[in-house]
Amino acid sequence: MTAQLVNLDKVLQANERLQAVYGPRERHGRRDPLDELILTILSQNTSDRNSGRAWRLLRSRYQSWSDVLEADTRELYEVIKPAGLGNIKAPRIQQVLQEVLNRRGEFNLDFLRELPIGEAKQWLRSLPGIGPKTAACVLCFACDMPALPVDTHVHRVALRLGLIGPKVNADAAHDLLEQALPVDAVYAFHVNMILHGRQICHAQRPACPRCPLRDMCDYGSTVLAAAAGAAPTL
Ligand code: SF4
Repeated sequence: MTAQLVNLDKVLQANERLQAVYGPRERHGRRDPLDELILTILSQNTSDRNSGRAWRLLRSRYQSWSDVLEADTRELYEVIKPAGLGNIKAPRIQQVLQEVLNRRGEFNLDFLRELPIGEAKQWLRSLPGIGPKTAACVLCFACDMPALPVDTHVHRVALRLGLIGPKVNADAAHDLLEQALPVDAVYAFHVNMILHGRQICHAQRPACPRCPLRDMCDYGSTVLAAAAGAAPTL
């Protein structure tokens, strides 16, 4: 069953090829887990630039997470407006902060670093509105865990390369891809897949002719064959 959902050999092959092209990746520092959680909520469905701006405005407007929780939701909406979807994100941030306070008695998620990865994921995913990508971001970037966030680039490239089955959605791809990789390769795989998606395997018009992975990509072969067929013959 799993073999139909994820191609284990191809995941490992893609990982090696990506590392050969883009290089191994080292982690540089780590954020506070609660900061990472709120920042990731802000980053949903927007650019890093917009979410970064909203994050800076949030941090300069409020002195503490307690202040954010107690703020008027409409005011919070205005503060984080650059991130977009403020009508969803402002109440979501307050719901999450309230839940963290209820469960932990403080605004601190450092305890996650001591949990097994499965338990830490489960804890985060049980917070209101927190899905596998946000949970993986917190564990990957703030807890040094081998959790794999599957964003739109990672999902698109994985589908095109045939690493996952055509019906595997991004949520399901998290555990499938993560478990197919060696633990020490997860972070580099995440970063390199995003880089590849941004630089070559674009959502529109992927640059297949100059793609270093095209020999292992059925989708790319189809694109190249179609382009060759469309070229005028002399
Ligand atoms: S060959 Fe084309 S579709 Fe396949 S990974 Fe490369 S750019 Fe993407």
